[in-house]
Amino acid sequence: MKTIGLIGGMSWESSAEYYRIMNETVKEELGGLHSVKCILYSVDFEEIAALQHKGEWIELTKLMIDFARRLEDAGADFIVITTNTMHKMAEEVQGNIHIPLLHIADATAEKIIEKGVHTPGLLGTKFTMEEDFYKGRLREKYELEVIVPTDTDRNAVDEIIYNELCVGIIKQASKEKFQEVIKELVSRGADGVILGCTEIPLLISQEDVDVPLFDTTAIHSRAAVELALREE
Ligand code: GLU
Repeated sequence: MKTIGLIGGMSWESSAEYYRIMNETVKEELGGLHSVKCILYSVDFEEIAALQHKGEWIELTKLMIDFARRLEDAGADFIVITTNTMHKMAEEVQGNIHIPLLHIADATAEKIIEKGVHTPGLLGTKFTMEEDFYKGRLREKYELEVIVPTDTDRNAVDEIIYNELCVGIIKQASKEKFQEVIKELVSRGADGVILGCTEIPLLISQEDVDVPLFDTTAIHSRAAVELALREE
């Protein structure tokens, strides 16, 4: 089994899910006392979120490269960034390390295509929904046309992520808001919805809606284990 290097803590609420899902997947695959081999570099998210909201992306890119290098030096065989948003600098990170980075959008795209979905809706932080690093990759590499919520809904989704989900607050009213946003995406032609923020699956799951959901936390965690167990 390869050793997975995780850049986490963004937020720790979702990193804990990665750890749980990766261990459960290894157990399903190998049984017995088997568990995941991993190294977690966990950050103080208050510092990172402050830099994000000040638009300090050059500084954040330097930090992300540094975290990935530390994991490489510590013996990780590949890197997993446990947040969709911080894939904004995935290419720069990959260009500055000697081990592969398992991109969350690639793992998710594979599942979307497998399910026969062509026009997925995307829920995530404003950075993920509004910028091109995520939607662009899905479009250019996989020919998937992504639909994002309206301006007002993007603000609501973003606020729920940073003010509630990332600090462990789960509210019924927020779940209903997400159901409403998903309905609106479907009315504009979405035939699936990407939960493109690793905390969203803490709030909403497949049984809450009729359209196929793509849980990026579970998909990425399982893809990481699949790569760790692959014979080469
Ligand atoms: N975990 C979230 C994501 O998947 C948001 C936190 C962040 O800004 O990194 O995008």
